[in-house]
Amino acid sequence: MDLKDKLAILADAAKYDASCASGGKGKRGAAPTDAGAGMGICHSYAPDGRCISLLKILLTNFCVFDCAYCVNRVSSNVPRARFTVAEVVRLTLGFHARNYIEGLFLSSGIIRDADYTMERMVAVARALREEHGFRGYIHLKTIPEASEELIAEAGRLADRLSINVELPTAAALRHLAPEKDESVIRRSMGRMRLRIDAAREERRPASFAPAGQSTQMIVGADAATDATILGTSAKLYGSYGLRRVYYSAFSPIPDASRTLPSRPAPLLREHRLYQADWLFRFYGFATEEIFAGGGDGMLDLEIDPKLAWALRHRDRFPLDVDRASREDLLRVPGLGARNVDRILAIRRHHGVRVADLARLRVPLKKVLPFLCTSDHTPRAAEIESAQLRRQLAPAPAQLSLFDGHAAH
Ligand code: SF4
Repeated sequence: MDLKDKLAILADAAKYDASCASGGKGKRGAAPTDAGAGMGICHSYAPDGRCISLLKILLTNFCVFDCAYCVNRVSSNVPRARFTVAEVVRLTLGFHARNYIEGLFLSSGIIRDADYTMERMVAVARALREEHGFRGYIHLKTIPEASEELIAEAGRLADRLSINVELPTAAALRHLAPEKDESVIRRSMGRMRLRIDAAREERRPASFAPAGQSTQMIVGADAATDATILGTSAKLYGSYGLRRVYYSAFSPIPDASRTLPSRPAPLLREHRLYQADWLFRFYGFATEEIFAGGGDGMLDLEIDPKLAWALRHRDRFPLDVDRASREDLLRVPGLGARNVDRILAIRRHHGVRVADLARLRVPLKKVLPFLCTSDHTPRAAEIESAQLRRQLAPAPAQLSLFDGHAAH
């Protein structure tokens, strides 16, 4: 099998991992036209917030495990391929030299055993860094059962390491991925955190995974509610200092087990989970607050979780934009953290007016029912109105942008 065919298989097999923000062609340079280029290029975010293009591939899609939700499981009837270490190095350097990518995201099925596989992934990173002086970004998906020495070496060479928790609960993992062990996954994440923290304390953050660790959870393969999923995320962020939890909407795979849903999870559900994740990480919300008010533990798909919270707490609004605390302003639908800080800066000089908010490009239709400015006071009837939700909910056409999976 030639390199282009391997790339087609192993880039396609990697697309199920959500740890890059998107698939498709890279944004750097012109669209690649040489054979094989363009496949497997995804976008991700560097630690400084820059959007970067990565070559996202599996070392191999052979796997000895049989996780029910995975297209690469041993019982799956898909074409298989395996890169050599030298091939991955060559592809990465070639794409990088042509300016198609800024780095490599490398994952793998488990061949033979965890150490055998991890050794090869580490060998790719070592060859790139030490033989070729590669300074691009490297994200290695690590295998929890791999030896401590291999994980330490991976952290020395890569910018980011990740271990997938896969599913929101231990019960779901036992059911759908019986060869995986939740306690081993957690222990490995804990050890990784200790190494990352130690490197920072020694003021040598670059010496071990300077971009930290992340994980991925599949959404909609089991019956876990959004409240359960976010509860698990909150514990993961707290216990292991994760940079990101990625949510991956379950998508049916060929010859799937009957224990799996036959329909994909809506992409909009994944989008709402990211929004809620943002609320408890950066906006001061407790996870319980996001779901308080009864219900079934699921996020509202029609409106974003901050708006849903504000509509359940109408008695707390409108806020006086010139007097409200930063914490309270962060709870106003439509106000992001950066604009809240800009508002605080403006009000040091003068009262905030609607024109100031317009200049900040805040969505006025969404914000003004919840804020008083020196030249605007929302009518009490407006905020109490049953219609407010309908007015602020995105049009169905906008919702369907996120719901593409469900349409098929
Ligand atoms: S170990 Fe990874 S690649 Fe193998 S079947 Fe499970 S999820 Fe898929």
